[in-house]
This record gives sequence, structure tokens and C-alpha cells, in this order.
Amino acid sequence: MADYFVHESSYIDDGVEIGKGTKIWHFCHIQTGAVIGENCSFGQNVNVSNNVKIGNGVKVQNNVSLYEGLELEDYVFCGPSCVFTNDLTPRAQYPKGHAGYKKTIVRSNATIGANATIVCGHELGEYCTIAAGAVVTKNVPAHALMAGVPARQIGWVCECGQVLDKELCCPDCNRKYEMKDDKLSEVK
Ligand SMILES: [Zn+2]
Repeated sequence: MADYFVHESSYIDDGVEIGKGTKIWHFCHIQTGAVIGENCSFGQNVNVSNNVKIGNGVKVQNNVSLYEGLELEDYVFCGPSCVFTNDLTPRAQYPKGHAGYKKTIVRSNATIGANATIVCGHELGEYCTIAAGAVVTKNVPAHALMAGVPARQIGWVCECGQVLDKELCCPDCNRKYEMKDDKLSEVK
């Protein structure tokens, strides 16, 4: 008896690891070599391609394809219908195969908004937030709030997800931050 849940409408290929407490809802396809941690949830119509690595506590909303070359660390949130890629110069006639796929890494606790696109080959820093519909074309610093097409940084985001005010304080949870060596760090 598996200690994770898979709805009967979903396909789990051979050679997949799934951690305990993870839930895979309707019409999903998990492909060979995928490694999925504990307590994750995959909404309706999610594809996890070959060899994709996913940490613990990750939430993927409806209609998301996680292509080969992608890694999601712990507690990453993928909003509905967000898009990943793994080839910067695709041609139907000149397929690159596994070796040609670019790596994309999403660090722990990052949030990707609905319908945002993450162009491959980039790193999204921990606790960053990508606004709905943004198109990310470069690396994203930790805690950065990115919006627009192409995405630009328009602010900073708290560990709890709220946008920080001008003094780098969180209006919701009162955490305080400061800039240290060009990085946001919490003032304890
Ligand atoms: Zn906060």
C-alpha cells in the first residue's frame, strides 16, 4: 500500500519516487526518473517529465508541465497554468534530446504566479515571488518581487509572502529586513 495518493485517472510511469503524504489529483502524468518529495500536491492536469526533481511540501496548481531540466526545491508554489521551458532555440526539425536541455532551478519557498512563464536556464532565488503573467528572462534574487514582460524587479517580498514596505518591514507579520552585501536579510 502506497503512503501517497494518486487519483485513478492519473498515470505514474515505472521508476518514479514519490514521498509519503503527497497527493496527485486528476489527469496527471508522472514520467520515469521523476523524484518527488513528501507532502506535495499536484492539481488537475499536471505533467512531471523525466528526471525532474521536486522537494518536500511543493504545491503545483492545475495545468502545469514541469519539463526535464527543472528542479523545484522545498515549498515551491507553482500557480495555475504557469509555464516552464527547457530549450532556448527549439526547432521541430533539429531536436536536441536530453543533453540539450537547459537547467532551471527554483529555490525553496519561491512562488510563481498564475500564467507566468519561466524561460529556461535561470535560477529563481528563495522566497522570490513572480507576479501573475510575468515572463522571467534572467536570474531572480532571493525575496525579489518580479512583474511584467520581460519581468523586472518592482519590490521585495517577506518570508510570509506579503510585499515589504519602503522600510523593508512586513505589514502582516512585522518581520524586518535590511540590505547586506546587495542581499536582503532578516533583522532578528
Ligand atoms: Zn511577513
